[in-house]
Amino acid sequence: MKYVGIALLVILAVLLLLLAVAAIRAVLIKAKPNKSAPAINPTEKEAAEYAEKLSEMIKVPTISLRGNTDLSQFYKLHEVMKKNFPFVFSKLECTEIEGNLIFRWQGKDSKRNGILLMGHQDVVTADEPNWEKDPFSGEISDGNIHGRGAMDCKSTVFSEFQAVEELLEEGFVPPCDVYLATSVDEEISGDGAPKLVNYLKSKGVHLDVAMDEGGAILKNALPTMAGWCAAIGILEKGYIDVKIIAKGKGGHSSTPKSNTPLARLSKFVAAIEKDKPFKSEISAPVYAMLDQAAPLLGFPLRMVLGNMWLFKGLLTKVLPVVSPMCNAFVKTTFCCTIAEGSHTANVIPSEAYVVCNLRPSPHQNAEQSLAVLKKYADKYDLELEVIHARSASNCVDFNGEEFTYLKKCLNECYPEAGVIPYLMTGGTDCRHYEEVADNCLRFCPIKMSNEQLAAMHAANESIGVTETAHCVKFYKHYIKNHK
Ligand SMILES: [Zn+2]
Repeated sequence: MKYVGIALLVILAVLLLLLAVAAIRAVLIKAKPNKSAPAINPTEKEAAEYAEKLSEMIKVPTISLRGNTDLSQFYKLHEVMKKNFPFVFSKLECTEIEGNLIFRWQGKDSKRNGILLMGHQDVVTADEPNWEKDPFSGEISDGNIHGRGAMDCKSTVFSEFQAVEELLEEGFVPPCDVYLATSVDEEISGDGAPKLVNYLKSKGVHLDVAMDEGGAILKNALPTMAGWCAAIGILEKGYIDVKIIAKGKGGHSSTPKSNTPLARLSKFVAAIEKDKPFKSEISAPVYAMLDQAAPLLGFPLRMVLGNMWLFKGLLTKVLPVVSPMCNAFVKTTFCCTIAEGSHTANVIPSEAYVVCNLRPSPHQNAEQSLAVLKKYADKYDLELEVIHARSASNCVDFNGEEFTYLKKCLNECYPEAGVIPYLMTGGTDCRHYEEVADNCLRFCPIKMSNEQLAAMHAANESIGVTETAHCVKFYKHYIKNHK
């Protein structure tokens, strides 16, 4: 009995010691404010001019619809861009492939790997009834430019083009070739970006970096975070659409047998929701994200995330239940989105199906995630028909030269913001560029509020006038100082 008491005391002492070490580390890693002056200072006049130009781009409703895109709107947008970026259109080599555009700006040494800035021209529909402004008015008011695409992602395309336009006007010649690429069908996962990538491949182009939309500079992005943080997307999760089919005898619903197709499908969906069978793991990119976010956070969270050596196991268990976003960081997600059975209320369907959308995590690829689903499908006598399936993209080397350079530029241009890598739960065109680029960074250097972020693909999308001007100047700084 005496020894048990001593053992408990020793365990308690070790635990207290570990917690004390974690607490001291949490104090030491706290981020110190960077008080240096920003390297970029757009004038109010420039900001007003940029807002007008971006507004003109928003006014053209370049909506992409599966099988029904009106390309003439994209050609109208090209005319607007031609007028607003005369140097880009006259001095760079421009190739147009069915509305998709790629520009080559010849650098001093074309044999070197190039850099590519990209974004998409298309936008989603704007049918939400609660828009406060006309979504295609491009209205400039309250310090913001309003409308569909203001954020996603005409401000990105505008800022990239405007930066190159100004550098051309100044007579700057980049050390390596610089490309601008913009597709017409990102929102419908179209083949615009692959066409541009094939073009680059046919020319034997290899890139050090391709930078697309994705992360941005967000305020109070995480709980207890106070201030700005640039979140750079370093990889994206995979994507699966799978149809789960139940077959049966059908018949009249007045004398039903049990386990009809819809009953089996319901059991399948309910079982997966209840069991949460996908593997929870803090993969290397998520580890880097949490570890680098820790110094920016308030005390209790800083202690936990900043001491992953101690809390990783606990976090693996806790994160899936903290929030849907935290769950998506550590697990393949599963969601049932379409269901169909009989078309008549009193007829038992002989076949019914649900479509499930999964986002495979980096540590459980598409095949492994589908294998989990298959076990459940077998249990309820269901068939699986895979519609699309891809695993997570490659991960950028977040200790490598390109990530470090982007971080350096951010420290120079936005000294008030912390910088973290992050795992994107959604998809971008950028993954296609993995074939030609060593680093696919998903990040637009623009500040946005949480309300602006929430308006993506929703009503009342907008972007700040001053913030857009900073974004233009950032791209200039980035291109000008790239090795
Ligand atoms: Zn987008």
